[in-house]
Amino acid sequence: MKYLDEYRNPEIARKIVEELHAVTKHNWVIMEVCGGQTHSIIKNGIDKIIPQQIELVHGPGCPVCVTPLEQIDKAIAIASRPDVIFTSFGDMLRVPGSEKDLFMVKSEGGDVRIVYSPLDAVNIARENPDKKVVFFAVGFETTAPNNAMAVWQAHREGLKNFYLLVSHVLVPPAMRALLSSPNNRVQGYLAAGHVCTVMGWEEYIPIAEEYKVPIVVTGFEPVDILEGILMVVQLLERGEAKVENQYSRVVRREGNRPAQELIQRVFEIADRKWRGIGEIPASGLRLREEFREHDAELAFGMGEIQVEEPPECISGLVLQGLKKPYECEAFGKQCTPQTPLGATMVSAEGACAAYFNYSRHEESAG
Ligand code: SF4
Repeated sequence: MKYLDEYRNPEIARKIVEELHAVTKHNWVIMEVCGGQTHSIIKNGIDKIIPQQIELVHGPGCPVCVTPLEQIDKAIAIASRPDVIFTSFGDMLRVPGSEKDLFMVKSEGGDVRIVYSPLDAVNIARENPDKKVVFFAVGFETTAPNNAMAVWQAHREGLKNFYLLVSHVLVPPAMRALLSSPNNRVQGYLAAGHVCTVMGWEEYIPIAEEYKVPIVVTGFEPVDILEGILMVVQLLERGEAKVENQYSRVVRREGNRPAQELIQRVFEIADRKWRGIGEIPASGLRLREEFREHDAELAFGMGEIQVEEPPECISGLVLQGLKKPYECEAFGKQCTPQTPLGATMVSAEGACAAYFNYSRHEESAG
């Protein structure tokens, strides 16, 4: 298939790896931001075929993983109400809260439904005026336009029984937070291609300049990722900190302007807590005042919930590129994809789940 096979072509990949070996002269730590890229790197063994001087570390770009535990508990509390139809993408249903997950709520009689679009949830609200219909709006900038569209549509129709439980996070503030940390090891970024499809890459220019790190917008197939790594290493070896775009077949510099305008029309920037990392200022979205009547947290009186993460979990260090999953004592023992203890094991795109699923139990990369 055009645009897919050529990005999985072993011969093209081999040539890029040869070039990478030729240009790499120093040790570099490069972070891929997106969980989809982490999954592809581990699945295809990319970290094992690149030069040993290059260490790949795995960033906080898995939206299911970074959704705070207390937000899952709020979802479970709302979904358990008899007057609610709770809707979500399927991947959130098996994420454990403090005591149970949404699948258990469903098995106990809660009306929990998997939908494929937030607009499906709007339809359910229209068809069930005697119920309160909630959509669990989790994700990065990639899913924000669809969620904004759902609220805008419900608001326009006067559907008072449609709500979003918002847990939206934004990538650039998290990249800044990692670079600002005194423990930072990241010297270059592979930026998440799908996020840039919506947002473009202009907002990364000040990050590259301020922190002196090259940032390459990168896709998800093996050849994409190898090309992205090669471009970052070429910039690092030349001492250049700028933004380049490997994923130009999809991403434009300015991104998708109508989608950005829709996000800005419905949402505003807010502080957000990231699971495993903590609160990052101005790193998320919340509904604007005009649309606040659709805010599930306000409608159901969800105040602050304090939840403790398991003490053995080091997912915060994994998400900052400071530890690898197999360095966690619980990895593959108490913590597996079936019994996840922490952020990075709950989704297949999380670094711990990727290492577990592809049997990376103890070896070092490279
Ligand atoms: S293996 Fe489990 S407990 Fe350990 S860091 Fe990963 S998610 Fe946390």
